[in-house]
Amino acid sequence: MPKIPPALSRQADPPSLARASRPVVKITERGADRLKSGHVWVYRSDIVSAEEEPPGGLVSVVDWRGKLLGTALYSSASQIAVRMISPGPVDDFPALLRERVRQALEYRKLVVRDSDAYRLVFSEGDFLPGLIVDRYNDILSLQVLTQGMDSEMVRSVIVSELSQQGNPAAIAERVDARVRELEQLPVRQSGLIQGEKTSTIFTMDGIRFQFSALEGQKTGAFLDQRENYAAAAQYAHGEALDVFCYQGGFALHLAPHCSSVTGVDSSRPALEVAEQNAALNGREIEWLEANAFDVLKDYSAAGRQYDTIVLDPPAFAKSKKNLETALRGYKELNLRALKMLRRGGILVTCSCSYHVSQGDFMGMLTSAALDAGRTLRVLEYRTQAKDHPIIATIPETSYLKAVIYHVSA
Ligand code: SAH
Repeated sequence: MPKIPPALSRQADPPSLARASRPVVKITERGADRLKSGHVWVYRSDIVSAEEEPPGGLVSVVDWRGKLLGTALYSSASQIAVRMISPGPVDDFPALLRERVRQALEYRKLVVRDSDAYRLVFSEGDFLPGLIVDRYNDILSLQVLTQGMDSEMVRSVIVSELSQQGNPAAIAERVDARVRELEQLPVRQSGLIQGEKTSTIFTMDGIRFQFSALEGQKTGAFLDQRENYAAAAQYAHGEALDVFCYQGGFALHLAPHCSSVTGVDSSRPALEVAEQNAALNGREIEWLEANAFDVLKDYSAAGRQYDTIVLDPPAFAKSKKNLETALRGYKELNLRALKMLRRGGILVTCSCSYHVSQGDFMGMLTSAALDAGRTLRVLEYRTQAKDHPIIATIPETSYLKAVIYHVSA
């Protein structure tokens, strides 16, 4: 079983030592095959029987013959009923949690460069399913998405380990009310868990950004694009347009290399932070509060031209069902952008929809290139920053696609 890192599976005792007292969840052959392929989820439809279990508690998972497959966190609400945390029995859960947090920190030391903001814990990507922790300089921002990570015991162990290892000025919790409702978790407010500091300035690639722990979308910035900012900056030149710019991550990285930069977003609060960020770095950037589809349509109809265009829309495909509609949306954006790029221009185009595969995305881009009559040379195929680890056997951990093209003809 290649799925759980060796250091973690050291926790596992032989199956014969399974603790008899833990509730047992029996799963189908299909569910067991999924785990054997290195995945960590079991869907409710693959559960044969489950003993009475408090929501979010630890369970022993056995196959249809009764053979132990490991220990998991159980959700009474999610279609993902079981999320594995170990391929064997777990006797000391707090110790396991502490070790996972330490390993997450170790990994970041290896992969994060030139930034004091990064994702410290990425849920299944760090074998802590349902826990997200981001670091913004001296503030940690935590988000809980599953029953298993929401228990008081788990919270207090995680917070104490983060506090010891990361030594932050404050730890804040950001609540996604809708996720909590879907997971049938009690209502909570966003707020500070530890310390008093609620805002700070973080630095990426020498560029400064404002962070407010209790405002904004997601858990602050879109840290998954961090490495793509620096990559885009390598090729950016001339007049640049950053479409779906949020708080200006791309725009601010492009600015030192471009003669002018315009950022477009429909969110006024995001653009207000973007403007503060520009001021922090002494940059003049034009921010446009508008629907990106309208701007691209109007500007391309008016014959406006650019040398660098970034497209980083929100996830258009929320499920497999609307894949076709999503691809039409992506194509419209990319087609218009391609028509507006000058010869030798740079297109940085992204999709953060898990349901749009790399193949779907490339197919859409090829078709847009043909329709626009442009020649596209791939400069870089890219994905999410390495602090959002992609586990080879868990496809759902991989969601961001970013391609940088040189556009000619
Ligand atoms: N590029 C950004 C992240 C973009 S996230 C970064 O690196 O930080 C997607 C953004 O699209 C959000 O800021 C959201 O406000 C914006 N958005 C969503 N729909 C939009 C629309 N129709 N027109 C313009 N902006 C839109």
